[in-house]
Amino acid sequence: MTNPEKMNISIKPPRGTRDVLPAESEQWQKLEELARKTLKSAGYKEIRLPIFEQTELFCRTAGEGSDVVNKEMYTFADKADRSLTLRPEGTAQAARAYLNSSMDRLRPPTKLFYMGQYFRNEAVQTGRYRQFNQLGLEAFGSASPLLDAETIAIACDFLKKAGVAEFEVQINSLGCSTCRPAYREALKEKLRDRLSTLCKDCCDRYERNPLRMLDCKVEADQEQFIDVPGPLDYLCADCESQWEALTLALGQLRVPFAVNRRLVRGLDYYTRTVFEIVSQDSRLGAQSTIAAGGRYDNLIESLGGPPTPAVGWAVGLERLLLLLETPPTTNVDVFVVSTDVDVALQVATSLRQAGISADLDFPVTGTKSRSFTKQLQEANKLGCRWAVIIGENELAKNEVALKDMRIKGLQISVPIADLPKKLRELT
Ligand SMILES: [Zn+2]
Ligand SMILES: [Zn+2]
Repeated sequence: MTNPEKMNISIKPPRGTRDVLPAESEQWQKLEELARKTLKSAGYKEIRLPIFEQTELFCRTAGEGSDVVNKEMYTFADKADRSLTLRPEGTAQAARAYLNSSMDRLRPPTKLFYMGQYFRNEAVQTGRYRQFNQLGLEAFGSASPLLDAETIAIACDFLKKAGVAEFEVQINSLGCSTCRPAYREALKEKLRDRLSTLCKDCCDRYERNPLRMLDCKVEADQEQFIDVPGPLDYLCADCESQWEALTLALGQLRVPFAVNRRLVRGLDYYTRTVFEIVSQDSRLGAQSTIAAGGRYDNLIESLGGPPTPAVGWAVGLERLLLLLETPPTTNVDVFVVSTDVDVALQVATSLRQAGISADLDFPVTGTKSRSFTKQLQEANKLGCRWAVIIGENELAKNEVALKDMRIKGLQISVPIADLPKKLRELT
């Protein structure tokens, strides 16, 4: 038989995925806790949705011409030959759930948030994985630009509380179905003569979705776009007044922002407001976006629902964590030290039941414990505040010795029954 240990060594996690180990998982828990607290405090409620969906959901919403749909989805057929896709993003899914559960009958806006794993088969870069975690929020049912301002303010609040020192909010408006056609034509007109110098992706997008050209990652192409008009130059009266209200509201909420006239988003469903929160922090490498979102007033209709304006954003948590300091991990408060494992386990269990975190030393083989000294060294290494020492003499008197690991030589006798009470008094 093959030695299983030897066999496993060559198996690594798939490219673009990673293991979150104990040294890091605590930071994840804190960030997730902060996310829930921040979003709930603004009236958002959590939804938990499937990891895979019918492929059609993403084709219909993200747009057949988008990179996500064309190049990046993990799509597979199940046993009944249905086409399924590991979710590449959260908005389409939230919109589907909103419609399926008739939340459109509730008084708008319906405010939802989610956290979880998403999947895109794209180039692996600093903080960018093929299985990645996102926090996202969506507000359905209101066209008010004040709701856009609120979602942006919430994103900034979350990033600040998480500890991101510096970031910039960039906003733009993509217009609506009334004003965008004129802009598309103006953009195409301006770029017609430059097509031969632009990359293949740009040429592909020229007919299908010229706005997406502005999102091209090729630097030489970006230089060609410096003098092109932006959608802001072509807004209709409605879009214009929405835009003014948004910028006014952001000012009132004291959210500093910069207008980025060439900001577009990679998915086709966006209308009017789009925004990104970017950081110049070198730890993010070439990619500087931490959060991104916008308004998508036609998405629900494209899924067969009633006209429903909506706005949302998502934050990539792996990238966000790159910007945060790693706090030291915390351990149990009490280490129970005894040469009798049975007794140590009983005492640790009763402490846990009383709400006090406790651990003990388990023999690696057999039932014989290590020495008191070794166990105390372990307690020290783990950074436990207290050691509860149970020797034979103490046990005979139904007592334990309680040792403060931070103060050398400080040790008191406590009746076993009073231990939880005493520990609570002292901490
Ligand atoms: Zn418009
Ligand atoms: Zn290009």
